[in-house]
Amino acid sequence: MQTREKLFIPGPTEVNEEVLRALSKHPIGHRTEDFSKILKECFDGLKYIFRTKNPVVILSGSGTSGMDAAIASVLKPGDEVICITGGKFGERFAEIAEAYGARVKRFEIEWGKTFDKDELENFVANSDAEIITMVHNETSTGVRHDAEFVGKLAKKYNMIYILDCISSLGGDYVETDKWNVDLCISGSQKCLSLPPGLSFVAISEKAKERIEENTTRCYYLNLKKYLKSMEKNTTPFTPSINLIFALRKSIELIRKEGLENRIKRHVKISRALRRAIEEIGLELFVKDDDIASRTVTSVKYPKGLGDDFRYEIKNEFKILLAGGQSKLKGKIFRIGHMGNVTPNDVIAVLSAIELTLKRRGFNIRLGKSIEKFLEYI
Ligand code: PLP
Repeated sequence: MQTREKLFIPGPTEVNEEVLRALSKHPIGHRTEDFSKILKECFDGLKYIFRTKNPVVILSGSGTSGMDAAIASVLKPGDEVICITGGKFGERFAEIAEAYGARVKRFEIEWGKTFDKDELENFVANSDAEIITMVHNETSTGVRHDAEFVGKLAKKYNMIYILDCISSLGGDYVETDKWNVDLCISGSQKCLSLPPGLSFVAISEKAKERIEENTTRCYYLNLKKYLKSMEKNTTPFTPSINLIFALRKSIELIRKEGLENRIKRHVKISRALRRAIEEIGLELFVKDDDIASRTVTSVKYPKGLGDDFRYEIKNEFKILLAGGQSKLKGKIFRIGHMGNVTPNDVIAVLSAIELTLKRRGFNIRLGKSIEKFLEYI
């Protein structure tokens, strides 16, 4: 009998047995040659996953520590910063920038939609901001924004481009260098299928120059320190040694699958799942396939259903789905399909959804969504 809940939330995600075994090894000294070798492998592997030739530093902290470090390390108090919002995590960037004394100009997008390119360019052209932030894959809504377009704007208007790829890296296309991303941030517990506790920041040459000349008011998250230590294959403070063991294993598994194959698996699953959800009469929160996330799918609760639907699925089937956040609380549920997820896993989720809907009195032919899913997978 399955005793633990399977995670179909947008992080943390299911962790591979081999990664768990790596995690459970006894720690070693972090100032040793052996550990530096492991770190070097991780630094190189992260460059492969971020598709960058630039350094990717590793922080001991959840994804937000990377967002915090990025802003703190390039921002000078009083700087104007454009934050593209449109969800909980886009808003988080604005809150962090404000906490460090920035004058934040929010470019607000309706939740569930993406930006209009002309409107955004107009907004940028009429601002003095030297920094722009965006979330690539807005996990709270399930929208994937055009990160490449914003990179073109950042280049044209000479801005530092900070991009949160926390819930896309390793599950969707992220082209750090090609898209001119200056500070590209991710975290361990999403598409890299690790437990929470690590954050990664890829740092461009342009960002590095700004970081070098900046006098930030933060200490632990000062990226200058991480860049300097990285040159010697080490970290400025005691790292999460066991998570680094696990990261090395996870990178090995990602290389084995191939990044491109891994992304294609996510793309296929997300498309098939969207069609399956529609097939049983549920409404997708993000209407447009072109901007739908490849790693998390948001579904509107039909009339008469709320979060108790998710709790029933959790108790009955040991399948954990996520609810809506902030203003979407009680209005949507979210299916996380990131990391190690397979088509079979999604079929189990669809079965649980169908059965629970039927028990709640919805007129539904069992297996309908699964047939559709199989057609597209
Ligand atoms: N940004 C995005 C897009 C996320 O999905 C999350 C977590 O769900 C975060 C930031 C925050 O990351 P953490 O909770 O690891 O600090």
